[in-house]
Amino acid sequence: VSTWADVPQGPPAILGTCPLCQKDGIDPDSIVGVGAYRDDQGKPYVLPSVRTAEGKVVSEKLNKEYAGITGVPDFTKAAAVLAYGEGSSALDRLVITQSISGTGALRIGGAFLQRFFPGAKKIYIPTPSWANHGAVFKDSGLEVEKYRYYNKDTIGLDFDGMIADIKAAPKGSAFLLHACAHNPTGVDPTVEQWKEISNAIKDGEHYAFFDMAYQGFASGDTDKDAFPVRHFVEQGHNPCLAQSFAKNMGLYGERVGAFSVVCADAAEKKRVDSQVKILVRPLYSNPPVHGARIASTILNDPALNKKWLGEVKGMADRIISMRALLKKELENLGSKHDWSHITSQIGMFAYTGLTPQQMDKLATEHSVYATKDGRISVAGITSGNVKRLAAAIHAVKP
Ligand code: PMP
Repeated sequence: VSTWADVPQGPPAILGTCPLCQKDGIDPDSIVGVGAYRDDQGKPYVLPSVRTAEGKVVSEKLNKEYAGITGVPDFTKAAAVLAYGEGSSALDRLVITQSISGTGALRIGGAFLQRFFPGAKKIYIPTPSWANHGAVFKDSGLEVEKYRYYNKDTIGLDFDGMIADIKAAPKGSAFLLHACAHNPTGVDPTVEQWKEISNAIKDGEHYAFFDMAYQGFASGDTDKDAFPVRHFVEQGHNPCLAQSFAKNMGLYGERVGAFSVVCADAAEKKRVDSQVKILVRPLYSNPPVHGARIASTILNDPALNKKWLGEVKGMADRIISMRALLKKELENLGSKHDWSHITSQIGMFAYTGLTPQQMDKLATEHSVYATKDGRISVAGITSGNVKRLAAAIHAVKP
């Protein structure tokens, strides 16, 4: 009998194939279910600044030696400034390591908390959260608990529930916060609400772990999107942070990210830095260099950086305009429902408020594929397919 005879069949991973798409002969990449930006022709988009930076990197004919355990220093230094802001008090007491994109950053953070977090080895994540959060933290050896976040009646933030759950958690608990463009709901707290969240976390002596996978992608402005992280630092929190350059630089497959910990002082920084290296070494020794060199070139070259910021804004603006267009098309069809959440939500995804049954109908009767929770990727909407999408939504939810 085979060694693996007792391995059970697992459920398909979220990014797995779409059996219905295959049946219909539809490219699963062209649907509104995929978490990647598409241009208005529905095509994957390589940012012009990335093309330029990559050309520079190649022409420099650098060697392919290993990076250090914590990656390409010019990259991590610039990534820290992008997140925390020029002149931030966090920068000189920051431990930062390059990571295998945002997921890898979360995984290093999970492992660090599992090993050193002084409170319960448990992390609170929002309901709902990115589907992978629970798995990443569980596999890091943490217990995963939920806090209230989304109110399905208002298709908005359950702010009172969120604050109540932060207050009810045992003193010194760890909370995972989406810095901007909450996935999957697209529902973000306002600036005023962030201030109250910061106070509630502080009152509970809790610890904030930020996941910032969409800096710049939400509003089009990287500074504005980083507000929660920077506000927490100003308020005296010492959070940790997972960064991803998948979305804002379109470097998905290059796996460029960073994990950082704001420390109390230089001595703590030295100790934490030593332990992050001890954690990373047996995980993958050191990270890949090519994508980090591209990101570093963009972040460190002022002209290229400016060009990139314009392109980020271009992507965010296209998404914002597709939200408005989808809402308008629904209204043009005579829909009597209130679709204002489509335009008030932010980032790549919109929670339509459609039920799993309605999502099923969307797929089986209209060949529109997205996740059962009612989430659609606004990044997959184009001026060419928005009418068909609106008609399909209107048909399943007349
Ligand atoms: N966090 C959130 C909230 C995300 O939506 C994503 C991407 N879907 C990630 C982290 C990580 O993505 P990646 O590993 O591709 O950077």
